[in-house]
Amino acid sequence: MKLLDLKNLSQKRLSALQSAGIHHPEHLLYFFPRRYLDKSNFQPIGFLRETGEPISVAGKVISVNVSGYKSKKRLEVIVQDRSGSMKVVYFKGWKYFISRFKKGEWVALYGTVKQYGRYMNMAHPEVDQISGPDDVEQFKSLTPIYPSNKHFSKAYISNQIISDWVQQILTATTVPEFLPDHILKRHSFPVRDEGLRSIHKPESKAEADKALERFKYEEFFLFELSMAKIKNIRTTRAEGKILEPGPITKNFFNEQLPFELTDGQKNSLKDIRTDLTSGEQMNRLIQGDVGAGKTVVAIGSMLMAVDNGMQAALMAPTEILAEQHYHTIKEYLEPLGINHRLITGSQKTALRRDILSDIAGGTCQIAVGTHAIFQDQVEFNNLGVVVIDEQHRFGVKQRNELLMKGDNPHLLVMSATPIPRSLAMTIYSDLDISIIEGLPGGRKPIKTAVRTDKERPGVYDFLETSIQNGDQAYIVYPLIEESEVMDLKDATMGFEKLKQRFPELRIGLLHGRMKPEEKDGIMKRFAEGDIDILVSTTVIEVGVDVPNASIMIVEHAERFGLSQLHQLRGRIGRGRKQSYCILMPGQKLSKDGRFRLKMMIDTTDGFKIAEADLKLRGPGDFLGTKQSGLPEFKFGDILEDRITLEKAKNDAWQIIRSDSDFGNPNHQALKKVFEPYFKKKAEFFGIG
Ligand code: ADP
Ligand code: MG
Repeated sequence: MKLLDLKNLSQKRLSALQSAGIHHPEHLLYFFPRRYLDKSNFQPIGFLRETGEPISVAGKVISVNVSGYKSKKRLEVIVQDRSGSMKVVYFKGWKYFISRFKKGEWVALYGTVKQYGRYMNMAHPEVDQISGPDDVEQFKSLTPIYPSNKHFSKAYISNQIISDWVQQILTATTVPEFLPDHILKRHSFPVRDEGLRSIHKPESKAEADKALERFKYEEFFLFELSMAKIKNIRTTRAEGKILEPGPITKNFFNEQLPFELTDGQKNSLKDIRTDLTSGEQMNRLIQGDVGAGKTVVAIGSMLMAVDNGMQAALMAPTEILAEQHYHTIKEYLEPLGINHRLITGSQKTALRRDILSDIAGGTCQIAVGTHAIFQDQVEFNNLGVVVIDEQHRFGVKQRNELLMKGDNPHLLVMSATPIPRSLAMTIYSDLDISIIEGLPGGRKPIKTAVRTDKERPGVYDFLETSIQNGDQAYIVYPLIEESEVMDLKDATMGFEKLKQRFPELRIGLLHGRMKPEEKDGIMKRFAEGDIDILVSTTVIEVGVDVPNASIMIVEHAERFGLSQLHQLRGRIGRGRKQSYCILMPGQKLSKDGRFRLKMMIDTTDGFKIAEADLKLRGPGDFLGTKQSGLPEFKFGDILEDRITLEKAKNDAWQIIRSDSDFGNPNHQALKKVFEPYFKKKAEFFGIG
């Protein structure tokens, strides 16, 4: 069957379907109702009461009248059954409805009734023509209400027409199943064809819900199957190099590191060591809240490569962060004689050439950089471990480009965007996950408050006293790309005003438009305590680590997202001192804005904040759907349908473990559907 076989299909309607992405009858079957009407509750007219609930009646048309003048015209119909009569009124669209009521014929009506004088009135009911009082069999199943669609309404494709088309397709075809039998049985899912019938014409809401679960499962399952397959290909196509920690790693942890590792850090390192010595390629995500101490874990894993004569690469999303990691590594590893280099996009040609030759020749043991590190000219001698910091800032594609620089190097990605664990395990299911719980000891929870512009003098007095006591502070202004120029003005003006207000303090300005050397210079001075107040845009949002900074003032705080505020606040509270975060909204708060600031005051727990943010923004926006490789699921919601997602994941992994090439005769139909689906995914994930 083809779309062209549909009844009442004009050229205009065909193009409307195509504009809505419907090119094949099966696509229309996957256009699901948004909700259902239950028109099965028929009541005798003479016993109707006002309840506010919609009900159905079957009645004979006694009279049809148009009354009123001009725009006030309305259609009034009297219908009657054996128990009594009532009035039906249409104020709008009466020209259309008048054709549906013929004196002496029977109609089924669905709507709510109200008493007006002598008559029960039903305004704007849905109307269906029927042959007589007993012709109500068709209303036993629920009536689907399809989502509105601008293409459809332009081509006058009504709800009824969609429903008719769907039924026409379902009458003409049987939709083949592709889920294996054992899966259908395990979850008592209806087969595909039956499920679609239930979706489009269910007898009950329960029947529709059960069918819907199957289709949510179906899309989750295909996704999870591809994630499992990708991981399977990665781990089996090449052996992972075995990297036993040696003297350098031990020396670093025992001699160089000025603090005890937290349990979370130890456990992550243990997981990494197991991976690196397993003979399979490591694919691990380290998740830890801001300030949890992910950097030393990264350094530890890179040293295991160095210990085995291999190179390691660390990639960070901003120049500031790359610089900072470079300095940290210098501080810890220079004494150990480890050769390390920084590579960024803004380096001069001569320097760059020198760095590139160091990396290609293998003299450079650890390379730190921005995305410049995976550019074409960069060649590694023998890359053993790749670390990606703040990985949510990168796309899957960039991750793969860096991996291509070596011969199946081990991969460690790190993220401070804490998402509920079960969710992380399903979304990043091509990765193993270690979580660093808790923060290093001796930290006091950050105190957070909201202050208005009126209270600014008090805030500034507090700032001044604290700085006199040796503290340092960040003052952050928003920077949103579209209005970059205006925001820059904000930060620059704020900077000038502060210099006037605090002539005796050392104040620095940092923003994205500055030259990298300038940025680096300012950051270095701030880190060394030569700047008291750093006025900055959000360029400091990720990763920046200056433990002595204990005050943060966020201007226009209402313009930041919740996770972003949490990330920003994570720049303070890194030392032993009590830290303070002061949020200063620039204007009257919206309801969401108020909620975000309240959340910031109430908790410093990144997981709680992430969960709230996820709810506010939805997974697509929160996770950066396009980047993460997570499809926008049509039916399922990764939060609300977590249980279904979990089932799909477990089944997918079981199939890939036992039959990764789909040789099993029971998996042939699945194979046919999965192959084209996987082809696209594999391209995206850089699996050839
Ligand atoms: P993040 O997880 O946000 O990347 P960092 O690695 O930047 O955190 O660490 C935050 C701060 O905590 C740094 O100043 C770091 O030196 C310090 N730190 C890390 N681990 C410990 C620890 N076990 N004990 C004390 N301080 C630590
Ligand atoms: Mg970090």
